Amino acid sequence: MRHRIAVIGGGPAGLTFARVLHRHGHPVTILERDSTPDARPPGGVLDLHERMGQLALGKAGLLAEFQALSRPEGQAMRILDVDGTVLRDWRPRPGDRANPEIDRGQLRGLLLGPLDVQWGRGVTEVVPRTGDGVLVRFADGRQETFDLVVGADGAWSRVRPAVSSATPHYTGITLVETSLDDVDTRHPDLARLIGDGSMAVYGVNRGLVAQRNSGGHVKVYAQFRAPLDWHTSLDRHMGLNRRAGMNAGMDTGLDTGLDLADAEAMRSSLLALFDGWAAPVLNLLRHGTAFVHRPLYVLPVSHTWAHVAGVTLLGDAAHLMPPLGVGANLAMLEGAELAESVAAAPGPADLDEAVRAFEEQMWARAGGWAKITMAGLERLVSPDPTEALALFDEVQPS
Ligand SMILES: Cc1cc2nc3c(=O)[nH]c(=O)nc-3n(C[C@H](O)[C@H](O)[C@H](O)COP(=O)(O)OP(=O)(O)OC[C@H]3O[C@@H](n4cnc5c(N)ncnc54)[C@H](O)[C@@H]3O)c2cc1C
Repeated sequence: MRHRIAVIGGGPAGLTFARVLHRHGHPVTILERDSTPDARPPGGVLDLHERMGQLALGKAGLLAEFQALSRPEGQAMRILDVDGTVLRDWRPRPGDRANPEIDRGQLRGLLLGPLDVQWGRGVTEVVPRTGDGVLVRFADGRQETFDLVVGADGAWSRVRPAVSSATPHYTGITLVETSLDDVDTRHPDLARLIGDGSMAVYGVNRGLVAQRNSGGHVKVYAQFRAPLDWHTSLDRHMGLNRRAGMNAGMDTGLDTGLDLADAEAMRSSLLALFDGWAAPVLNLLRHGTAFVHRPLYVLPVSHTWAHVAGVTLLGDAAHLMPPLGVGANLAMLEGAELAESVAAAPGPADLDEAVRAFEEQMWARAGGWAKITMAGLERLVSPDPTEALALFDEVQPS
């Protein structure tokens, strides 16, 4: 019996789910809000772990193609002190393929392959138990019905309200992302500073991380503790006097807001926030192009819900957690596992049982990772920067 299955969202979770089902010869409707695959920049690199993301790609029959595309040398990690001293310089051994890096755009292309995605189909609402299955309503006013709707639509999921009232909350830590292009030719000093993979510098309640993508592209993340509205009043919230260009902490009466869309204003505010750090490190911000504001939100740790027949969630929609290298890996593994369970379920009762069993497994594993990543975030952006170094030594012993 063929179930009518829809997956909402064409991110790592949704596409892995669809690709594994496709491999099992099961049709699936993929509904994605973006109008085209290139509608927005795909984001930075992902490191796919052997027992998570890579395991999922194996289930999709894509491991060999991933190995050809990914960059094992990108696993390298360097940690600097705020004065520029290199504290750790970890490099993978030859043949180490535990966590190779891949650009998100490349991963999306790999997973898309033969899949037939319906682009530009933003979902607004999912209504379970309508008699003929689960109703999906779209932004363009249309609606369709399915036997199983899988919400893989990320942090601000429109499917989640059908099963849970949980919503993401702010962690108290914000990222501002910028990037550098052609780093090897345009900024060779920075290219050397970053190395083959990532470089991180941790200070009091703030950090700067640079990650190499393919093609000489580098993503830089400034991260700091701040109230959600930090940019509305820099003097009051951050103790910054932008006009003086220094970490003033003194009230000069300048208490104007920062326009998040103004790249030059963002750059000078960040330079003031990281004032006193080594000049080569600050060049990551000086040469950055656009600046993107990304406050970090999470769902409650160990988020679960009372099972609802015909609807489930995967990935960030189910368990949004801090970006400590796990979210996409979990999303893909869950996508692959749910697809295998669904493909093996012949009748409607089997399908429901398969989804229930999957949810129990997902909640147990994701709950554990949510605790680990929340604790990790607290240590990385900490009043005591030695915590970040200690965390690195625990995760990556030399
Ligand atoms: C800065 C940063 C760095 C990270 N680094 C890593 C890393 O190195 N390793 C790692 O494992 N994880 C990392 N993560 C986490 C990772 O990005 C996420 O966990 C992962 O993308 C989740 O995948 P997903 O498919 O669940 O959701 P998403 O990637 O958010 O995909 C959701 C998809 O659904 C679509 N969509 C949204 N709403 C709708 C709607 N209403 N209708 C239809 N479609 C919709 C979106 O357009 C999108 O395509 C990082 C996160 C950040 C912010």
